[in-house]
Amino acid sequence: MENTINGIHHITAIAGNAKKNYDFYTRVLGLRLVKKTVNFDDPQTYHLYYGDKFGTPGTILTFFPWEGITAGRRGARQATEIGYSVPEGSLDFWLKRLDANNVLYNKPAEKFGEQYLTLLDPDGLKLELIVPKTADNRLPWETAEVKTENATRGFHNITITTNKMDATAKILTDVFGYKLLEQHVNRFRFVTDAVDNAAIVDLVEVAGEVAGHVAGGSVHHVAFRVKNEEILMQYREKIAALGLHITDKIDRNYFYSLYFREPGGVLFELATDNPGFSVDEPVDQLGSGLKLPAQYENIREDLEKSLPSLI
Ligand code: ZN
Repeated sequence: MENTINGIHHITAIAGNAKKNYDFYTRVLGLRLVKKTVNFDDPQTYHLYYGDKFGTPGTILTFFPWEGITAGRRGARQATEIGYSVPEGSLDFWLKRLDANNVLYNKPAEKFGEQYLTLLDPDGLKLELIVPKTADNRLPWETAEVKTENATRGFHNITITTNKMDATAKILTDVFGYKLLEQHVNRFRFVTDAVDNAAIVDLVEVAGEVAGHVAGGSVHHVAFRVKNEEILMQYREKIAALGLHITDKIDRNYFYSLYFREPGGVLFELATDNPGFSVDEPVDQLGSGLKLPAQYENIREDLEKSLPSLI
């Protein structure tokens, strides 16, 4: 885990209505809101982070909710499905829960020998609840309605749809240290053994698929995890050496980041474990206050009035 890519750090997607997003992820799916902040490039918009108790990398799904945004379209050059791992025997619980909450879903199916069900969040973002072959021992966040025996454990995988996978696969294998684990028809499963969980990227190759449009209900970027800034900058050199454009290091308050667009068209980020979500509020209070980066503290009062209520 020292100088490797340690699976998925977080995934960021775009939502419409903030309150619906909050209700779906905290109540229906039973995740914890671990940070309520604003989009650092557009402070009139929230940036909401959902995860486990600590906001552990590999469990964090984040959203920019833009009220009234048009719906995106799933397609090539996009991360198209987000897979959460859930415990064996929990799919019946989830089917009933999705029914009771009018969530759109497909009946359970199987891929790579793993049972899963697909559902759509309120903006049409495609999620999968997957029972992994090897039990996922991460400790979940528990709510009154979603107890430990059913709760999501964090990410299992991310699926990327691509017209031609070679160049993306090469980043995964030659730079990130992933290897091809299995293939079924046009789905290629890559895994890193640097970590036990959130370790899988599936590439689905569809030659004729039209490029997707990133808007409401779409994944904006996928962030991969590194231990610290020193390792982050080592990867910056490796990626720049391939001739890809990569940003300078950016301070995201809860982690340090670099962004680059992989050759298949998906925006990738590399993000550090440090400093983590307890840097500006204690673990037992994560998500309870509006947290602002220093440059927006002077407009806090305005933002607290203009940002929509989540409850
Ligand atoms: Zn990010």
